[in-house]
Amino acid sequence: MKFGGTSVGDASCIARAASILVNAAKECRCVAVVSAMSGVTNRLIEATNHAEAGNAVEATAILEALRKQHEVALTSLLPNEKGRESIRGKLEEVLAEGRRLCEGTALLRELTPRTLDAVSSLGERLSAPLVAAAVKEAGAASEAIDATELVVTDAFHGGAEPQMDLTREKSQARLFPLLEKGIVPVVTGFIGATVDGQLTTLGRGGSDFSATILGAALNADEVIIWTDVDGVLTADPRLVPEARTIPEISYREAAELAYFGAKVLHPKTLNPVVQAAIPVWIRNSFQPDRLGTKITPEGRSIGGGVKALTAIRDVTLISVGGPGIVGLPDVVGRTFSTTAAVRANVLLISQSSSQNDICFIVASTDAQRTVEALRKEFAKDLAHQDVEHITVDPNIAIVAVVGENMRGIPGIAGKTFSALGRDAVNLIAIAQGSSESNISFVIEEKAVKQALVTAHREFGLGTPHG
Ligand code: ADP
Ligand code: ASP
Ligand code: MG
Repeated sequence: MKFGGTSVGDASCIARAASILVNAAKECRCVAVVSAMSGVTNRLIEATNHAEAGNAVEATAILEALRKQHEVALTSLLPNEKGRESIRGKLEEVLAEGRRLCEGTALLRELTPRTLDAVSSLGERLSAPLVAAAVKEAGAASEAIDATELVVTDAFHGGAEPQMDLTREKSQARLFPLLEKGIVPVVTGFIGATVDGQLTTLGRGGSDFSATILGAALNADEVIIWTDVDGVLTADPRLVPEARTIPEISYREAAELAYFGAKVLHPKTLNPVVQAAIPVWIRNSFQPDRLGTKITPEGRSIGGGVKALTAIRDVTLISVGGPGIVGLPDVVGRTFSTTAAVRANVLLISQSSSQNDICFIVASTDAQRTVEALRKEFAKDLAHQDVEHITVDPNIAIVAVVGENMRGIPGIAGKTFSALGRDAVNLIAIAQGSSESNISFVIEEKAVKQALVTAHREFGLGTPHG
């Protein structure tokens, strides 16, 4: 069971999470994976930015505010001062490490990816002892565990990939004996370590991924992701108020939604469980009596067609073009070897048939290093004007219409685009994957809400299917 940031956002949320865990532990062997308290990872990253600018004082002030926040939660979770002391000691250790890292960074005015990971990870390392303490308080044995002991990754800081064989070995060796004894392990989400013990993070929102990594490593019967909404909805409820919970959805559909920005799932969440076909539930920790969404290999067919909509906003359109590129057969190859070399995640590609222009979309956080690498790769061609421009447009968004078996249903694209046209949403580019489980299009960022509301209404997603 994984509990996201809002599900451990304060003492009362942590107590609710603990009671869910204690009830589950009566029925089965259960491992918890926890995020940092909501907002904490952002604050930690802010602290590293201050440190990098040389402002150690501001960085440590943030750590001090976080200390107070966790102390408040601790005080209200554990009535007994004696019990608090050992937890407080652990929290202090973690915070002292944070201070040292920020002071070192401020001194050098250099923030390495390794240090950024080390500081970003502190939130989970603060929340796990609190949750474990709350579980004990609620009546089950529990132990906080650092995922650096379990999840082995490569050394790609900020987006590390797990090495499943080693992870399986370590996780089983460490966690099975605890489970045998009826202890509920509370594992830090979001983090792992390289074979030689260097801490890494799995990327923002990565605790979902941690949960399925451990679920697969431990041969779990199911993974439950507890969050602040009733499951996977037909669209982001913050943008489309009529959005509805989808009772069952396939791996492919859920992965497509996650990949195209549905924040409820980290994009890599389903990778580890596909092979073993482990079902993943998304449920609301604030309404634990509701069933939520079940993600299964096949999903539940509604006869094909549109299931849900999603949008990604923090993306940038990059185009490489010019009349000369027709004569350069390797431009496409070189463009995408370059994006691969800088590990930029390419979300959508579109090439005009005149071949004057290749445009593709990457996450905005990847845009600068991608463009720099492309300018270097094509420096000679730019000088000879074979490649005329490499341009960047950050004010765009991708909207995706997702559903399995859209192949069988003609006119979904036509229906989408005429509805958008009617509501004056201007399309910049269109792409349909060959799987036909999504149609995605690029629009101006400011039109996202309108596009979602229009398409949601057009496909009747607000009304339940039989
Ligand atoms: P957690 O902290 O539990 O990991 P997140 O904030 O990362 O939670 O993800 C949950 C949020 O995802 C919801 O509050 C909701 O606003 C957003 N969201 C975006 N798209 C969807 C969708 N299709 N279904 C459900 N939630 C969505
Ligand atoms: N705490 C991390 C983040 O905010 C991971 C997570 O919450 O899933 O990105
Ligand atoms: Mg999340």
